[in-house]
Amino acid sequence: MYRIAVIPGDGIGKEVMEQGVRILKIIGEKYDVDFQMEDGYVGGGAYDELGTCLPESAVKLCEESDAILFGASGGPKWDVLPSDERPEKALAILRKKLELFVNLRPVKIRKSLIGALPVKAEIVGDGTELVMIRELTGGIYYGQPKEGNAERAVDSMVYTAGEVERISRFAFELAQKRSRRLTSVDKENMMESSKLWRAVVIEVSKDYPDVELNHMLVDNCAFQIVAAPRQFDVMVAGNMFGDILSDELGALAGSLGMCPSASLGYGKSGLYEPIHGTAPDIAGQGIANPIGMILSVAMMLEYSFDMKEQAKIIEKAVDAVLDKGYRTADIFEEGKKTVSTGEMGDLIAGEMESLY
Ligand code: NAD
Repeated sequence: MYRIAVIPGDGIGKEVMEQGVRILKIIGEKYDVDFQMEDGYVGGGAYDELGTCLPESAVKLCEESDAILFGASGGPKWDVLPSDERPEKALAILRKKLELFVNLRPVKIRKSLIGALPVKAEIVGDGTELVMIRELTGGIYYGQPKEGNAERAVDSMVYTAGEVERISRFAFELAQKRSRRLTSVDKENMMESSKLWRAVVIEVSKDYPDVELNHMLVDNCAFQIVAAPRQFDVMVAGNMFGDILSDELGALAGSLGMCPSASLGYGKSGLYEPIHGTAPDIAGQGIANPIGMILSVAMMLEYSFDMKEQAKIIEKAVDAVLDKGYRTADIFEEGKKTVSTGEMGDLIAGEMESLY
C-alpha cells in the first residue's frame, strides 16, 4: 500500500490533476497496487477557505505520505497578498520542509511534435532527451536578507558549499547512468555565489573522473539551448537559473504542458508536478494539456515506487496518442486533431489498455 497526497492547487492545476489521478487509478487496478490517495489543500483556494495557503493539515499529510502529486498554485487573485502569504511561497516552504533539494526535469524532444516546435527540426534532432537538475531549496528564492519597500528591494543569492555539493553529487551520479556528460550552469564571471558553485562542482568532479564536466555561463546557456540543444545531456543549475532555463527547455518539448518533474531529497516522500503554473489565461476552459501531469505520475511510479515497467507503459501510451495525431491546443499544428484536457486523458487511458 502506498499513501499519496494529492494536491491539485489552483487554476489548471485542478484540471490536469483529474487526469493524472485517473491514470494512477488505472495502474493501481491493473497491477493490484493499493494507492491510497488523500486530497490536500495548498495554494490560493486553501487561502480562500482556510485563511492560509499552506494549512498545517496539508504539511502533515505530505510528511506522512509516501509521495505527493502536486498540480500548480497561484493566480492573479492572490498576487495582492504579502509575499510571505502567497501561494508560490507556500510551495517553496513545503519543498524546504520536506528537504526536496533536487528538482529533476527531463525534457524529451518527440518526433511527433517536431513540426510544432519553435526551433528547426535539424537543430533539435528527433528523440533528443536531456535532463535539467535544478537545485530547489537554496539560492535566491530563500536567501536572506529578502525585503523591500517602494524605494528599495533586495533578494540575496546565497549558497553554501554543502548545498552545492549535494546537488552536484546527484548530478554526477545521474550523468554516470546516462551519457557521462554534465553541464554545470552558473554566472561565475559576475557572482560570488556562482564562484563558490563552480569551485565546489570542480572539487566534487574529482570523485567522478568518468564524467566529462563542462561549465557554462547562464546567459550563454540560454542561447545554446535554442541554438544547439543536442550538446546537452545532464545539466545542473541553481534554483533561479534552473527555473528559468527549464521553462525555455519546455519550448523544445513543444509546450510547458508537456514537461513533468520530480522533486527529491533524502526523505521518503518525493513531490511530483508538471513544471507549468496555473495558466490563468486558459484556466476553466478544459483545454489545458494534461501530459506534463500524467508524465509526473509516471515519474512518481519510477522514483518513489520502483515501478519502472508501469511508468514506461504511461510514457508509451502518451507517445502513441501523439503519434496518432491528437493534440491539445498548446501543441496543435495544421492537420492534427484538437482534443480537450479530458479527451486527452481518455485517449491515453485507452491506449494503456493495449500495452499491458
Ligand atoms: P504558466 O506556466 O501558468 O503559463 C505560461 C503559459 O503556458 C501560458 O500561456 C499558459 O496558458 C501556458 N501553459 C502552461 N501550462 C499549460 C498546459 N498544461 N497546457 C496548455 N498551456 C499551458 O506560467 P505563468 O503564467 O507565468 O504563471 C501563472 C501562475 O502560476 C502564477 O501565479 C505563477 O506564480 C504560478 N506558477 C505556479 C507554479 C507552481 O505551482 N509550481 C509554477 C509556475 C508558475
